[in-house]
Amino acid sequence: MTKEEWLSKLFQIEHYFDTIKNSYPKSDIRDIFLGKKGELTLLLKKISEIPVEHRKEVGLKGNELKKMIEEFVTEDYENVSEVLNEIDITLPSKKINFSFRHPITITLSKIIESFKKLGFSLEWGPLVEEDFYNFKALNFPDHHPARDMQDTFYIDGLFDSEGKNLILRTHTSPVQIRTMLKYKPPLRVISPGRVFRSEAVDATHSFVFNQIEGFYVDSKVNMCDLKWALENFIKDLFGNSAKIKFMPSYFPFVEPGAQVEVSCVFCSGRNINCKVCKGVGWLEMLGAGIIHPNVLKNCGYDPYQWSGFAFGAGIERFTMLLFGIDDLRTLYENDLRILRQVV
Ligand SMILES: [Zn+2]
Repeated sequence: MTKEEWLSKLFQIEHYFDTIKNSYPKSDIRDIFLGKKGELTLLLKKISEIPVEHRKEVGLKGNELKKMIEEFVTEDYENVSEVLNEIDITLPSKKINFSFRHPITITLSKIIESFKKLGFSLEWGPLVEEDFYNFKALNFPDHHPARDMQDTFYIDGLFDSEGKNLILRTHTSPVQIRTMLKYKPPLRVISPGRVFRSEAVDATHSFVFNQIEGFYVDSKVNMCDLKWALENFIKDLFGNSAKIKFMPSYFPFVEPGAQVEVSCVFCSGRNINCKVCKGVGWLEMLGAGIIHPNVLKNCGYDPYQWSGFAFGAGIERFTMLLFGIDDLRTLYENDLRILRQVV
């Protein structure tokens, strides 16, 4: 290698350094130029190939660039150590309040993600509802005793087209009616949201809580489809060892109707002293069933052509199980000292 070739290579390296020095972390710059196989390191090694009388001159220029790069890559380290010398690093740090999602929101996101995997889409409905959507179309005739199952808030002075008081919706099922009236089957929909009932507040009840509704309408939908969907959902949420079972139950908008129980996520039925399942091994988690033909008819669907399943569940119940919370009120009092411990 001649002196000219060596100096030309040195010039190229200097130019390369100027071009990239602010685009990479300094540790990378150090490796690229000064590392064991760095550009400059390799060039400096080649000094031995240059005739002796020129070595001193090129060596000086090479070392100048080496020093410049070294200073550049160590600059910040020196600044940091200067700052560190001035502050007392043993002082407690300032408390930073990071925001975090509420446990109910976290639960809801998990539930929505889980049903999205099964092809369900999301619909929302109004909180102030008409009697038709909340009761009548769902097969609760006027004065039917089934209405007593849902203590309702009626809004004074606001009426629907039939002259009945508007109400705060008592469940998310009216969204099922609204969606079925709006679209043609097949439909696979979930609808979460707040619902209201005139109930006293205690460890497991509140006048406002969150529900999620889900339904699937297509031809020949049956209980097996329902069981498959719910089993997938429960295993996705609580793990593969979770089991479900169906117990006969009554809801006006389904026939047959079932109460869906999930194996206790805390004891799997192996602890007779379990506080969560009270030793039974099962927890009531959802109401479900095959959509009643009257409901299909009320939405203009021919019950001989279409069938469907529907289910509903309280979101807080899932939150309590997922986060190990034993009092519903914890979720509404929003005491950050407690909520921070669970999320
Ligand atoms: Zn248990």
